[in-house]
Formats: sequence, structure tokens, C-alpha cells
Amino acid sequence: MTSLIDTLKKELGEKTVLTEISEDDRHLADWSGESASKPPAAIIRPASTEELSVLLKHCHKAQQAVAIQGGLSGLSAGAIPDNGELAVSLERMNCIEEIDLDAMTMTVLSGTPLQTIQEAAVDAGLSFPLDLGARGSCTIGGNVSTNAGGNQVIRFGMTRALILGLEAVLADGTVVTSLNKMLKNNAGYDLKQLFIGSEGTIGIVTRVVLRLFPKLESRCTALCALKTHADVIKLLQLSGKQLGGILSSYEVMWANYFDLVVDSVAHLHSPFDKQHAFYVLMEAEGSNQEQDTQGFQTLLEQALESGLIEDAAIAQSGKESAGFWQIRDGVGDILPALAPCANFDISVPISRMQEFLERANRILLERFPAVKILIFGHLGDSNMHYIARTGRKEDKDVIYDTIYKLVGEYSGSVSAEHGIGKLKRRYLQHSRNEIEIEMMRQLKNTFDPRGILNPGRVI
Ligand SMILES: Cc1cc2nc3c(=O)[nH]c(=O)nc-3n(C[C@H](O)[C@H](O)[C@H](O)COP(=O)(O)OP(=O)(O)OC[C@H]3O[C@@H](n4cnc5c(N)ncnc54)[C@H](O)[C@@H]3O)c2cc1C
Repeated sequence: MTSLIDTLKKELGEKTVLTEISEDDRHLADWSGESASKPPAAIIRPASTEELSVLLKHCHKAQQAVAIQGGLSGLSAGAIPDNGELAVSLERMNCIEEIDLDAMTMTVLSGTPLQTIQEAAVDAGLSFPLDLGARGSCTIGGNVSTNAGGNQVIRFGMTRALILGLEAVLADGTVVTSLNKMLKNNAGYDLKQLFIGSEGTIGIVTRVVLRLFPKLESRCTALCALKTHADVIKLLQLSGKQLGGILSSYEVMWANYFDLVVDSVAHLHSPFDKQHAFYVLMEAEGSNQEQDTQGFQTLLEQALESGLIEDAAIAQSGKESAGFWQIRDGVGDILPALAPCANFDISVPISRMQEFLERANRILLERFPAVKILIFGHLGDSNMHYIARTGRKEDKDVIYDTIYKLVGEYSGSVSAEHGIGKLKRRYLQHSRNEIEIEMMRQLKNTFDPRGILNPGRVI
């Protein structure tokens, strides 16, 4: 190890290869709540694809494992360096290289924060529609590697749908450049897909060509109160039909989540004078404010008149709309006080979601009568975040085992958007069959035969 680090220091420089690392260095942990048992021998911060290639060539030769790091906002512990791994941080590869207004693309280095990209797109008169609560800290390389979802999937798809091309470095240092800028390109295999969502197990993403969209000039946001789960689904279908494709977010909060957030987070309050069973935060974005507002209001008026919704508050300003979103994003505020708890990012086909949740709640309540359950999520994408808290650390594994098994029974996914990382590896079998897992293993072995890239993640 010492000779490898000496070689790396000589070839890449002391600024790139850091070896004085304290126990509380931020590179030791991510947002999953997990952290490394001790500091890695080095944190290596390449500033270019070429430097990263040199680094991996040496690590491959020495069979030295690395943990790849973007903005460390991941929730599956994939970026935490442990078991003698070196940390490889992309934080210095932070640059918007080109905005092509005609092709409507942006080419960026993978360590660029998502928010920087969003802002640059807006400054150019366009938009990049990937959006998630961690926008200020997550990087586009992390988003690509986890195939991040977020708040606008219902309209624009997951990260995969927003990537036209990319460049990656393979385990042996080979650089694969596939910087396609076109919407149509069927010339052979679409190699970029190998790196999207594979959580750094196949290669390290260094450059990305992003698809930009026209800037949306109008936005309508409402918080609706509903009585039943069935009504929540009906409103989703009605909105999709009536808003002519401009529905961009459909976030649902069960009362157990909504009430806790508005009661415990300072400055947040419910716009309704009584409590309801379900709350839907819906947003539509289009090109004509007057016309879109009219369509949005008509939809909500009809839903109110027919009794589909019990109440609704339409945001009258950007501030009000931000207030509604703060309730939805309030999980970040309440989570620390809920620890220890089991925290799920799961998906189940919408048609079976209610039955799944009723069964999950019943099973947990029978086993742990005092369990506190909170549910919210991107319901329009079949994705729920489900939190179960007994307050006892030792109950977490039983809860994880029980709920993930149930997810499998309902043909759901044990990871809707946060990735498998290290934390959900043993549950992958509930969402993928043996042949699928074996194919993943074969791919991993083909591209990383010495197992140095993010070992122990995903499979
Ligand atoms: C408040 C909050 C809200 C969130 N909301 C959402 C949400 O709505 N939707 C969602 O999908 N996620 C969400 N997340 C999770 C997280 O933000 C995403 O997973 C994000 O994509 C991770 O990006 P990152 O740069 O922080 O990656 P990291 O945490 O650094 O890494 C994540 C994984 O990607 C790998 N990786 C990172 N960069 C590269 C690279 N360049 N090449 C290869 N592998 C790489 C790492 O090894 C690791 O396995 C949220 C997190 C927080 C804290």
C-alpha cells in the first residue's frame, strides 16, 4: 500500500493524493447515517479524466480497491470507504464545459453539483429538469451512477432519460468516450446505459452530456386534502388526463407524515383548518401562465365539486409554493430525531399499493404495537418512502427483513431511486431473479475482473 501511495503521490502530486486524514473527515460518511470504521489510507481527488485513468491503472495493477465519491448525499452507503479501500473523490472535476443551444445539450464534468447545472441551464434560457432535495450537494456523477429520480420523474423520467452521452474510466484505466449529443443514435449497443444506475461498480463516470429542455414559463402548485387512497389515485389519473401532459409533480403525504412535519418543524403550517387522511402536493409546469392557471383551477374546482378532494390550497406566490414543498421535504428535518428507525425507498405497482401498505402496517403493528409509521413519496412514480420506528436499534433488521420480503411478494422494488449500495445488497434477491443477478455479476466481472471498483456494492 505504501509503495502504491508513494507512486500515486509522485505521479499525481500531493494536492491530489491526501494522506493526512482525521477521524471526522467528511469523506468518511454519507447521508445514510453509516460511516467508515477508520480513515482510508488516502483520499485521492483527480482533477481530470487523465489523472483518474493513471490512478486506476496503478490501482488495477496493485489490485487496490477504491470507493468512489461524488457529493456524498447518497442514502445507501455506496460511497463510504471501508475495508482498506482508497477514497476517490470527483469533487475537483467540477466544470460546465459547454452549453450547445442548438442541440440543447450541456456537457459537464461529473463532479459538478446538480444545482450549478440547473442554474446554468436557466441562465442559458433552458432548463435541466432533474431535481431532488439534495440538489446543493449531490453531483451529476452521483445522479448518473444512482440513476436518481426526484420530484419531476412523472413528466421527464429518471436521470437515465436525461443523459445523451458520457465518458467513463474503466477499472484498468481505459477511457471510454461516448459523448453522443443526438436524441437518435442506434449505431450498436448504447454503452452509456452500462454506467447509468450501476453505482460505480462498472466504471467511474467523468463527463456527461445532458439533455436540456425549453424553460417552462408557468408554474401552478396546489396542496390538496383527500379522504381515501383510492381518491388519491383517481386524482392522479384525472390530472394526467385534464392537464394535457403538463403535470410535473405528484407527491403524496399520508397524515402520519404530514401531521408530524407541520407540528414539529418551525415555520411550517398546514393551510387547512382540519386534519385529513391524505395530502397531495401537485405541480404543473407549462408555457402560458394565464391559460395553465385556468386549467389547473378548473381541475381542482371539479374535483372539489365531485367530492374527489376535500379541500385545496393553490399557491398564490413562489413563497407559498416553497412553503408547500418545505412540508414535503421536511423529512430531512424530522429524520435525526426519529433515529433509530428503518427507512425505506420502495416501489410497488400503483394498483397494488394500498393493499401492500395495509398489509405492511398490519404486520408491523402486530409485531411491534408501539411502532410509529410515516409514509410519503413520489406516488405518481409508484415510489413510497416508508419509515418505521420502534425506537429500538435491535428491531431494525427484523423490520427490514419483513418489509423487503413483502415488497418482493408484490413484485415491487427494494430500491425505487436511492440505489442498492451496501445497505440493500442482501435484499436485492426480492426484486431480481437469480438469472438477472447472475447477469449483473458477469457484467461486473467482465468490466472489473479484479473487483476494485466499489466492491461489495449492489451485488
Ligand atoms: C435530502 C436528500 C434528498 C434526496 N432526495 C432524493 C430523491 O428525491 N431522489 C433520489 O433519487 N435520490 C435522492 N437522494 C439521494 C442522493 O441525493 C442521490 O442518490 C444522489 O444521486 C447521490 O449523488 P452524490 O453525488 O451525492 O453521490 P454519492 O453519495 O457521493 O455516491 C452515490 C453512489 O454513486 C457512486 N458514484 C458517485 N459519483 C460517481 C461517479 N462519478 N462515477 C461512478 N460512481 C459514482 C458512489 O460510489 C455511490 O455508490 C436524496 C438525498 C438527500 C440527502
